[in-house]
Amino acid sequence: MAKPVLLTVDDDWEVLRAIERDLRRKYASDYRVLRAESGEAAMEIVRDLKVRDNAIALFLIDQRMPGLSGVEFLQQAISLYPDAKRVLLTAYADTDAAIAAINEAGINYYLLKPWDPPEENLYPVLDELLEDWQAAVPPQFEGIRVLGNRWSPVSHNIKDFLARNHVPYKWLDIETAAADSEVRGLVELLEKEETESLPLVILPNGLRLRQPTLAQLAENVGLKTRAAEAFYDLAIVGGGPAGLAAAVYGASEGLRTVMIEREAPGGQAGMSSRIENYLGFPSGLSGGDLARRAVVQARRFGVEILSAEATAVRLDGPYRFLTLGDGAELSCHALLVATGVQWRKLEAPGVERLTGAGIYYGAAMTEAISTRDEVVFVVGGANSAGQAAMYFSKYAQRVVVLVRGSSLALSMSQYLINQLKETPNVQIEFNSSVVEAHGEDHLEAISVHCTTSNEVNKVPANSLFILIGAAPNTKWLADIVDRDERGFILSGPDLMRDGKRPKGWQLDRDPGLLETNVPGIFVVGDVRHGSVKRVASGVGEGSVAISFVHQYLSKVV
Ligand SMILES: Cc1cc2nc3c(=O)[nH]c(=O)nc-3n(C[C@H](O)[C@H](O)[C@H](O)COP(=O)(O)OP(=O)(O)OC[C@H]3O[C@@H](n4cnc5c(N)ncnc54)[C@H](O)[C@@H]3O)c2cc1C
Repeated sequence: MAKPVLLTVDDDWEVLRAIERDLRRKYASDYRVLRAESGEAAMEIVRDLKVRDNAIALFLIDQRMPGLSGVEFLQQAISLYPDAKRVLLTAYADTDAAIAAINEAGINYYLLKPWDPPEENLYPVLDELLEDWQAAVPPQFEGIRVLGNRWSPVSHNIKDFLARNHVPYKWLDIETAAADSEVRGLVELLEKEETESLPLVILPNGLRLRQPTLAQLAENVGLKTRAAEAFYDLAIVGGGPAGLAAAVYGASEGLRTVMIEREAPGGQAGMSSRIENYLGFPSGLSGGDLARRAVVQARRFGVEILSAEATAVRLDGPYRFLTLGDGAELSCHALLVATGVQWRKLEAPGVERLTGAGIYYGAAMTEAISTRDEVVFVVGGANSAGQAAMYFSKYAQRVVVLVRGSSLALSMSQYLINQLKETPNVQIEFNSSVVEAHGEDHLEAISVHCTTSNEVNKVPANSLFILIGAAPNTKWLADIVDRDERGFILSGPDLMRDGKRPKGWQLDRDPGLLETNVPGIFVVGDVRHGSVKRVASGVGEGSVAISFVHQYLSKVV
C-alpha cells in the first residue's frame, strides 16, 4: 500500500532541502516525503497524486513564493485534498499574513523559520496534526480503478476479466459523476482524450491504460503472459476444473507443467455462483472460491500459469509446439487439451449488437450490483440458468426466467427447481423465447414470444443474461485431432472404427483412454466427446489423465 504523502514546498533550495531532511528523519517509515520548488510545481504533484488516488496527509508550505503564494496554493490544493493538514512556514516578518491565512485557507498551524531544533519546534506540532489526520481519514482503497460506462461492452469485459482473475479493483461509473464526488473529482483531473475514450484503467503506480486489450491488461496487472521456459514436460490448454486438476496432479508428481488460460482460471465453473453438488462441500461453494483455491494449490506445486490464448499446435517428432496469441511458441512432450465449452449464442435481432451493453452470456456476476432494484431477465432452463436466477434474486427487484420448454423437470436439478419456487422474487415463464432485443446504445426492451398464445410482447428490460447451453471451441485444433460433428474431441475407444486404430496411428497399442488420435495429446473435461459435463467429472478426468501422461512419457523420454 502506498504511504500517505507529506508534501513540502519552498522556493529557497537550502530551506527546502533542510525541511525535507528533517521530515524524512522522523517520518520516512510511515510517510512518503515529496518536495516542490514552487506552488505551480506542487500543484502538478497534487493532481497526479489525486489521479493515482494516493493520500496526502500534510502540506508544509512556504508562504512567500514567486507565482502562487503558500495560501494561494493551499486554496487550490485543499479542493482536491480537503482532509490534509496544512502548515504554513513563515518568516517572523510575515506572521500577520500567516495569522490572516488561518481563515482564508483553513491553516492548521504556522511555523516560524528557522525551526531548529526540530525536536522542539517542528515534530511535536506535526505529530499532533498527523495523529488527528490518521484518526479522521478512513483507510483508502489502493488498488486498480476502472472508470467507464455501465453499458460499455469493453468496460464489462475488463471488469469481468479482473474479477475472474481475482484482481481487486474499484469500479467508477462515469454516469454517476453528478452524485459521486470521487468520480467527479477524477473526471475533472483527467485529460479530455481520456474521458472520451473510456474505459480507463488506472493502476496504483499511476499508469493509465485507455481501452486496454485483455492481453495488455494481463501484462500490466501482474499476470504472467510469457512462458519462462522454452520446453515443458506437460502443457495444459484451459484452466477450468479439468485443466486445474491436471496441473495440480502433474506438477505434484514432478512434471514441469505449464497451464495456459485465455480468460481466467476456473473456466465455466468459475462463473457459477454456487456449486452445490461438489463432494466435500455440503453447503456448496462458489465457483470463484473453487478456482481461487485450486490456483493457490497449483502454484504451490510449481505450476506456471500463463494468461494467454493457444491458437495453434504443430508436431515435430516427439515434440508438440503450441503457438500463443502473441505469436510466441512453447514446446512440450505431452499436451493436454482442457478447453471446455463456450456459451451458445442466442440468434435474434439486436442481441449481438447489444451484447455487453445489457445483454450478457453466462451469469456475469460483475453486473449484479448494477441490477439492484431492477427487473432482470434470465434465458435458459438448465442448472446454470437456475443458479444465475438464484444469484440475481439477491440483488434485483424481480428475476424473470424465460424457459423455451413447458417444464424444468428434465433440464434442471430438483434442488434448484425447489429453490426457485421458494424464492418470492423469481418468476418462471414457460414456453417463452426472446425474439428481439431493442435499444440504441444499451438494452432497453425485449420482445418475448409465447408459444402457447402465439403472441409477442415487448417488455422493458435493462439486463438479459443468456444461459442456453454451450459448444466446444476447437477449430484451432481441427487439422491435428479428430473431432465429432459438433466439434467435441474424440479420444480412446471412441477413435476406433470397426476395431481399427485411427488413421496415421503408428504405435503398436490402441489410443489410451483420454488420448486423442495423436500420441501424447490428451483431452479431458467438457471438450471431450462423451464427457459428463460436471465439475467433479472434469476434475476426475484431469487427475486420471496424469497417469496416462506418465505412461506416455516413459516411452518417449
Ligand atoms: C453457470 C454454470 C454453473 C454450473 N454449475 C455446476 C454445478 O453446480 N455443478 C457441476 O458439477 N457443474 C456445473 N457446471 C458445469 C461445470 O462448470 C463444467 O462442467 C466444468 O467447468 C467443465 O470444466 P472444464 O475444465 O472441462 O472446462 P471449462 O470450465 O469450460 O474451462 C475451460 C477453460 O479453457 C479456456 N480456454 C478455452 N480455449 C482456450 C484456448 N484456446 N487457449 C487458452 N485457454 C482456453 C477457457 O477460457 C476456460 O477457462 C456449471 C456451468 C456453468 C456455466
